[in-house]
Amino acid sequence: MPNALIIGTGLGGLTAALRLSRRGYKVHMVEQYHQAGGRLNQLKKDGFTFDMAPSFFSMSYEFTEFINDAEIPMPFEFIELDPLYSVNFRDSGETYRIYKNLDKLANEFKAVEPDFRENIDKYLNSAGKFFHDSSDLVIKRNFRNIAEYILTLARVPWGHAPKMLRSFWSEVSKYFTSREVKETLSLVAFFLGATPFDTPAVYSLLSYTELVHDGYHNVKGGMYKIVEGLIKEMEKQDIDITFHTSIKSFEAQGDKVTAFIDQNDKKWEADIFVVNADAAVFRNKIMNKKSFSTQKLDKQKWTLAPFTMYLGIDKKLPELEHHAYFLGDNFKEYASKIFKNSISLDKPYYYVTNVSKYNEECAPEGQEAVFILCPVPDLRYKPDWSDQEELADNIITDLGNRINTDIKNHIVSKTIYAPPFWEKTFGLHRGSGLGLAHDLNQIGAFRPSNADEDYDNVYYVGSSTVPGTGLPMAVISSKLVVERIEKDYGPVHKKRTAV
Ligand SMILES: Cc1cc2nc3c(=O)[nH]c(=O)nc-3n(C[C@H](O)[C@H](O)[C@H](O)COP(=O)(O)OP(=O)(O)OC[C@H]3O[C@@H](n4cnc5c(N)ncnc54)[C@H](O)[C@@H]3O)c2cc1C
Repeated sequence: MPNALIIGTGLGGLTAALRLSRRGYKVHMVEQYHQAGGRLNQLKKDGFTFDMAPSFFSMSYEFTEFINDAEIPMPFEFIELDPLYSVNFRDSGETYRIYKNLDKLANEFKAVEPDFRENIDKYLNSAGKFFHDSSDLVIKRNFRNIAEYILTLARVPWGHAPKMLRSFWSEVSKYFTSREVKETLSLVAFFLGATPFDTPAVYSLLSYTELVHDGYHNVKGGMYKIVEGLIKEMEKQDIDITFHTSIKSFEAQGDKVTAFIDQNDKKWEADIFVVNADAAVFRNKIMNKKSFSTQKLDKQKWTLAPFTMYLGIDKKLPELEHHAYFLGDNFKEYASKIFKNSISLDKPYYYVTNVSKYNEECAPEGQEAVFILCPVPDLRYKPDWSDQEELADNIITDLGNRINTDIKNHIVSKTIYAPPFWEKTFGLHRGSGLGLAHDLNQIGAFRPSNADEDYDNVYYVGSSTVPGTGLPMAVISSKLVVERIEKDYGPVHKKRTAV
């Protein structure tokens, strides 16, 4: 039975482990953190339980594809979000609820965008056509080289070409006039860790996936149930994880890596290696590839860094919705500054999840667990986070004002993770939350490949390799890398029956 070592226990690593195990590999995993999940992690503190980062996901059918491939039962329970989220504007104080039901959604925006119902149909129709014309052809495929990728792109109907040339903001501006609708629809660009002004209009397909195709889902008991469920399945298949193990170097013979070496000089040998650590960072720091030098990585575009807060509140907050965005009154200026300049700490834009609203077990009775995410510049542009308390305080005060309740004096637990935490804990380049950005020159065959350039038995899975970032993409990434391994090594043994 061939051995596979997986480095990193993010969602890409965990799903690759189960897919490989089903194909007859004996899988072992190593992880530098003290528990599994990577960014899909959990923080337990002072009686509160928080999901550390992801709070919902789209394209739930990718999990269905995964369990069918891995021949396991669905290890957690989806909850479809309705409304998907709410958006509050600082200047008007208005809150809009984003429903998948487009008649209800039109009603939300009727005062600011009277033609919304007609125009959203046109907008989503165009986005949906692009989604169906490109998803299987381009996103869910391995490419051997750039030429093959470009030839495949040429098969996407030419009518979509303008979407490659204009920005997401220009696309929504073609259909809508009010800033409320344009800014709300543009939030999906922030889900990609970018802004609508530098995100190509092709990503309007995400509006289609959120509003028409599959919506957003949460998990009963919290997002970390995904990891716990996968680990239970892994235990049945004798897939073990060794924690507190950080890979630092490797040994090779010819075009094969023979072992990866951890911080204690322990050698981890295997027939094949799948790296779930960031595919660009690992090539830089561990594989020492010149084409992935720190200088070169710094020149690439990275997604925004997270500034996250985990608050335990000693009262209920009925005013706070489950998933809520709090926007300011200077969207364009904010978006233009957020990447490169020090952001203005006193007028933050942020996202809040009232974790315990639907998962009551996440907070003691009568209390609330609240997660706040504020996208900020990465450590290239803002290396000093000694002012983190100031930003945290401003967000907490602003949130209290926006939902008209005192939060500040009811905090009984507070944890802040600024970009240096994210960089150090999960090995994210300059603290970038979602890995390499999704500009057209950083996706498909232009993204770091899932097969190593120099060593035949080293592969990559996760956000900074193909196809990209987010939970469903990590699941697709494991499908792609396993397809690649099977192509290189052939099937190990035939499907076994479900366990
Ligand atoms: C704040 C935040 C909010 C997010 N919200 C959402 C959301 O709502 N919905 C959504 O779909 N996505 C969201 N994402 C994105 C999502 O979390 C990621 O795309 C996904 O979890 C990445 O999975 P991955 O497989 O790339 O692995 P990762 O989660 O990056 O895991 C990689 C693992 O490798 C380990 N590792 C790294 N280097 C080494 C080494 N040298 N040796 C050993 N181990 C190593 C790390 O410790 C880590 O555990 C969010 C991300 C962040 C940061």
